[in-house]
Amino acid sequence: TRTPVNVTVTGAAGQIGYALLFRIASGHLLGADVPVKLRLLEIPQGMKAAEGTAMELDDCAFPLLKGIDIFDDPNAGFEGANVALLVGARPRTKGMERGDLLSANGGIFKPQGKAINDHAADDIKVLVVGNPANTNALIAQAAAPDVPAERFTAMTRLDHNRAISQLAAKTGAAVSDIKRLTIWGNHSATQYPDIFHAEIAGKNAAEVVSDELWLADTFIPTVAKRGAAIIEARGASSAASAANAAIDHVHTWVNGTAAGDWTSMGIPSDGSYGVPEGIISSFPVTTKDGKYEIVQGLDINEFSRARIDASVAELVEERDAVRELGLI
Ligand code: NDP
Repeated sequence: TRTPVNVTVTGAAGQIGYALLFRIASGHLLGADVPVKLRLLEIPQGMKAAEGTAMELDDCAFPLLKGIDIFDDPNAGFEGANVALLVGARPRTKGMERGDLLSANGGIFKPQGKAINDHAADDIKVLVVGNPANTNALIAQAAAPDVPAERFTAMTRLDHNRAISQLAAKTGAAVSDIKRLTIWGNHSATQYPDIFHAEIAGKNAAEVVSDELWLADTFIPTVAKRGAAIIEARGASSAASAANAAIDHVHTWVNGTAAGDWTSMGIPSDGSYGVPEGIISSFPVTTKDGKYEIVQGLDINEFSRARIDASVAELVEERDAVRELGLI
């Protein structure tokens, strides 16, 4: 029998946490044959609600779930963690300046990065979901000098999945026929969903669509503003789809991309495609044996270049701001 994999989830009592934990425990994160132990990390005010969620997890009698522990101390929460999903974050509230948002999150992600550095397992893989996800991931990564930088990633998989869904709706294709879509840059309104290399049933997606106006005026803003549209419709931010994307991100990272396809992940840049080294930006990646590689050699046209550059410029600004705040 396999040793259980330790999965730490922060913000476990939140709405994404509620949609996420049951799928981890039922085997969707790592595989139907991989036992897991859950380590839930919350702030003191969230402990009681996390206990309630743990009771419900118990009540599911999931065969793969080998234990649940709840913590409000990051050092204990990340002890022996093999996978960490950093969901809890300080949301932007009305009138909050970007600097305030970044320092509030620095106060969360810097100590968590340090705790991961000091207590997680050697094979730790980190996914940051809590916003601003890319820069929160950078803060945590900078606080974990003993962990290889590439183990810190940020979620753009929800944007990726949203883009596939929009493209399928536009063209009448099945989502499963769409491959090689890319989200570039920041998980923010500046993100760039790129269909120029995407394929629909083997044909180039941009040629199938053949409508640059739709691309610029409908597709890109619809994908980028989907979160706001969900809030408007549901009266609450997206939770199940965000949790689903977190599951997809880690599952693909651990189990590999399909032949001929790739995915999108926010990862520390190695300088590819002119993205400054070190910032955590979304790229097209293939994964195999628990490692990822940036897809190289894609021809970037003018339309794409301008949009990638704009999103990357925002990430550089965020990096400079957290540097100035002494968070990295
Ligand atoms: P959610 O579970 O709805 O969201 C958590 C985070 O995920 C937010 O930062 C949110 O960003 C982000 N997020 C990323 N992508 C998406 C998406 N597509 N849709 C929605 N959210 C997205 O928040 P709750 O307030 O319900 O729960 C947060 C929990 O975290 C609370 O229980 C709180 O106590 C806990 N917490 C724990 C901390 C810790 O463990 N140290 C620290 C801080 C909070 P956005 O706000 O931009 O939507």
